[in-house]
Amino acid sequence: MTTATPIRQQYLEIKRRHADAILLFRIGDFYEAFDDDARLLARELDIVLTSKPMGRGLRVPLAGVPHHSLERHLATLIGRGHRVAICEQLTTQPVKGGAGRGLIERDVVRVVTPGTVLEPGLLQSKVNNYLAAYCTDGRRAGIAYADVTTGDFAATELDARSAQEELQRIGPAELLVPAGLAAQFSHASAAGAQPGFVTARPDAVFEPAAVRRTLSRHFGSRSLAPFGLSRWPLAAGAAAAVVEYLNETQAAVAGQLTRLSSYSAEAFMVMDDQTVRALEVFEGRGGAPSLLATLDHTRTAMGGRLLRRWLRQPSLDVAEITRRQEHVAWLAANARDRAELFAALESVHDLERLSGRARAGLALPSEVLAVRQSLETLPRVRAVLGRDGRRFGPLLAALPACEHVLELIRSSVNEEPTGRDGAGLVREGFSSELDELRGLLKNGRTFLAELEQRERARTGIKSLRVGFNKVFGYFIEVTKPNLHLVPEGYARKQTLTSAERFVTLELKEYESLVLNAQERVVELERGIFRRVCQEIGRSRPDLLAAAATVAHLDAVAAFAEAADRRGYTRPRVIDEAVLRVKGGRHPVVETLLGDGLAFVPNDLELGGEGSPEIALVTGPNMSGKSTYLRQAALIVLMAQAGSFVPANSAVVGVTDRVYTRIGLYDRIGGGESTFMTEMVETAHILHHATPRSLVLLDELGRGTSTYDGLAVARAVLEYLHNHPSLRPKTLFATHYFELTALAAVLPRVRNLRVEIAEEGGELRFLYRVSPGVAERSYGVYAAKLAGLPAPVVRRAEELLGEYESGGAPKAGADEAEFEGEFDRTVWGRGARVVQDLLALDVNSLSPVEALMKLYELRKAAEGEEGEGRRVLKSA
Ligand code: ADP
Repeated sequence: MTTATPIRQQYLEIKRRHADAILLFRIGDFYEAFDDDARLLARELDIVLTSKPMGRGLRVPLAGVPHHSLERHLATLIGRGHRVAICEQLTTQPVKGGAGRGLIERDVVRVVTPGTVLEPGLLQSKVNNYLAAYCTDGRRAGIAYADVTTGDFAATELDARSAQEELQRIGPAELLVPAGLAAQFSHASAAGAQPGFVTARPDAVFEPAAVRRTLSRHFGSRSLAPFGLSRWPLAAGAAAAVVEYLNETQAAVAGQLTRLSSYSAEAFMVMDDQTVRALEVFEGRGGAPSLLATLDHTRTAMGGRLLRRWLRQPSLDVAEITRRQEHVAWLAANARDRAELFAALESVHDLERLSGRARAGLALPSEVLAVRQSLETLPRVRAVLGRDGRRFGPLLAALPACEHVLELIRSSVNEEPTGRDGAGLVREGFSSELDELRGLLKNGRTFLAELEQRERARTGIKSLRVGFNKVFGYFIEVTKPNLHLVPEGYARKQTLTSAERFVTLELKEYESLVLNAQERVVELERGIFRRVCQEIGRSRPDLLAAAATVAHLDAVAAFAEAADRRGYTRPRVIDEAVLRVKGGRHPVVETLLGDGLAFVPNDLELGGEGSPEIALVTGPNMSGKSTYLRQAALIVLMAQAGSFVPANSAVVGVTDRVYTRIGLYDRIGGGESTFMTEMVETAHILHHATPRSLVLLDELGRGTSTYDGLAVARAVLEYLHNHPSLRPKTLFATHYFELTALAAVLPRVRNLRVEIAEEGGELRFLYRVSPGVAERSYGVYAAKLAGLPAPVVRRAEELLGEYESGGAPKAGADEAEFEGEFDRTVWGRGARVVQDLLALDVNSLSPVEALMKLYELRKAAEGEEGEGRRVLKSA
């Protein structure tokens, strides 16, 4: 029979409540995991799996990590998609529990999940970490998202069909969904369409009565009206799910969300993930920089996060865009002021996250000092912007000075703590009690010296010494030969080989005074620091307001820096369905061209008076078609984010959606065929585009046979052109020259070509886009560039001529012509190995037979290869 120890019973009780998480159980200096959790931990962290006796006849699998390395390991576990429950020791001494077990009390204080981390080490400073929730009634959907580290909390309600795009925009680290929907989401997430970490919540959480209860308890308000949610029950439901989840995982953190705002997803430009990837907004392909990297000159984490948001959700509001442009314009024109602003911003730390950590009682002294330095820098920021009070006035008015907190930190927290473990944390002059105690401790040294002198004189023992030892405390030491001089009142404390140690009443009294004073000092310092943190937490609304202003300034200054460095101009953003660019460039490609290569600027005009909405772009591979398409979208995106643009001039009509169907690279691993993916995305575009949208289609139809592809491409083009409610601005790059004939029939289609110069049989790319149709596809030329053997290129040219003249190609060229051109190790169908392979019925082979066959084939191959080489040599 086995009997579990009390601690094992305690563990099992807690584990029962956290079955879905890895439970890290604090025992002394370690976090320990048992049973299956131990096996998992050992595997994921690559640490030793051992076992521990936990009762008579009971050994339990165990794996553990030292407490100080928790953060590092948490990062790994969370990154791999686990949730982790952290169980702490709540008392230092065993308590006589109801069961009389005499155990240290323990309980889970936090359940850490991807959406709820607070540790700086688990976060990227310039990226928000969102926890989102989603619910739907089938027709409409509610979405809420929160960043517990910054206090952002927002909710919206929208057409259920647009929900996915909105979720992609938010890009949450974790998504909460009603249990009833969870299956559907985990399936979608496997296809890479949804955020990776989906957490199912009880359906009841999303029900109206529960929602009202959760939100009113959290915010202390009686209705949902203050949040603009009274007519958005689904948005409220999602918001409540966020609050409720935080309460459950880590109550202290829910308090970080002090405000909730509602927003309309329709206020932002819509881009799906596919588009964001194709335009390389946040990640360049093959190590190339992204748009973000090209523009991100921000100096603060807050500015970095805001810039990212602006690029992910360009505005549709001309007034807001103009406001940003005004700021960019001034900062771009005044380089010295901009440098001064940047220099100041270098000293502004992450006020959003720091104040959050202070509020949660997690801040370190260095973090409080970082708040101080940030606030001390604000006047410098103010000074720069004050130089154009009219332009920056409203912004400055919204920048609180936070003098009260600043003064508190200044007067209380020492810049350089004097002792270990933060001792000496609190400044002199802040607390008279503290100063007195410190004085006492300091005077103590003089007291001890005096005591020593006094006792030496009194006893006549010259070598008498007053000392201190960790175990025994204060003592008077007398060497053995002097023991006969020891006076009355000395009490023996410790015997050494050559001396005896004593205490006196006086020394004992002193000792307890000192010990008490030391303890009291620590206690006082901690208390003061805690109060300072609480005060920072209380001032958080002001600190967040300051942070928002700083973020805005940092982001517009980054745009100004990019504009100045790269010669961007201010686009005219208007409320019409047009796009007119003169001398436009691709903001990233132009930075990548090697020495001596200049990016060739191009014009573009879509929509508006006398200008077709659809342009068909033809030109050979590598001639710059795709770059031309992408630069159009990037210019629009940058303009609506508030940035200047890489062009001589630009008029950008506010664009509600940017869609791209570019390239054949994505979702290879997703299991869908490329053509199917292409069609799904095209269908999406046709269902959602409006006259205010910009659609980029690159080589549509390429993933299938020629006639199929051509037919689909043409039908799509006609639909975009003819459907009365569509007619988006469209750039259509294609190698189907047959399509260019459409321009003659469809009035709102025009042909563009990328120019090529042919000099002595060699082609030169000019990258210049002009009206008209490219002459031919130059595919054969591209094949030559790619290094296909000369006979192949020759034969292809021959065939092309025959196809173009409409005749059927003649039979293949003489084998003799290829003699010596091919490496014979590339077998033709005639090779025995290949014939053997083709004859195999793979389905009917057992694994062992397959292995044998493989072995055989390999032997045969070795023989044939040798033969092939011999043939080559003798030839
Ligand atoms: P395509 O889509 O026609 O195959 P890309 O747009 O991918 O061609 O362009 C191929 C390469 O040509 C780019 O990577 C870039 O180096 C260069 N390129 C494209 N456009 C320009 C331009 N306007 N000026 C200079 N170089 C360009």
